[in-house]
Amino acid sequence: MVLAPNELRNSVIRTAREMMRAGLCVNTSGNVSAAIPGTDAFLITPSGVPYEELEPASIVLMRRTGLGAWEPEGSFAPSSEWQLHAEAYSEKREIRAIVHTHSPKATAVSCLEEDIPPFHYMVAAAGGIDIPCAPYATFGTRELALSAAKALEHRRGCLLAHHGVVATGDSLRSALALALEIENLARMYLDLRASGGMKLLPEEEMRRVAERFLSYGQPKRRNP
Ligand SMILES: [Zn+2]
Repeated sequence: MVLAPNELRNSVIRTAREMMRAGLCVNTSGNVSAAIPGTDAFLITPSGVPYEELEPASIVLMRRTGLGAWEPEGSFAPSSEWQLHAEAYSEKREIRAIVHTHSPKATAVSCLEEDIPPFHYMVAAAGGIDIPCAPYATFGTRELALSAAKALEHRRGCLLAHHGVVATGDSLRSALALALEIENLARMYLDLRASGGMKLLPEEEMRRVAERFLSYGQPKRRNP
């Protein structure tokens, strides 16, 4: 049995509540997970439990039991989207936390089945020249997990067509910050579309900005 520090369970709960308070999700939609340092396992919010009712014991520990096989520990069922989280952690070791939302503006853009183009330099916060939109698949399926993993191959965040947003990070704090940023960008993008259009930044500039983001900010603080 893998032991998850209570501190990390509490950080997952705090992040889920912040996500809700920030208006990134309503009711029990969305979910949050964090990789457990030094293991293959991760913690994830349970399925269908209101965020205000979460306790450390209701956070589900997902343990890898084989290639592509995972098992929950504890008495709660994991978020229905646990496969999406498992696939992302398996594909990219640098991902330490994931925030999945149905934030309204970004989800509206996802219904256009379009990537968010480089209309603002902060688009590069997702790791590249655009914020890709992963093709639609039914919620809670492996198809959706694979679709998201492909969109995240060269990005830290993406849209899920007709569904929502996935934001990853090296900490819960950075994953939530990216989810907020994507929602903010989506709001501006929809306003611009409604007002008749926009100019886009050149690809070369976006690559330069994406590179700068890698070293932006304070020296690393390991704080989930
Ligand atoms: Zn969802």
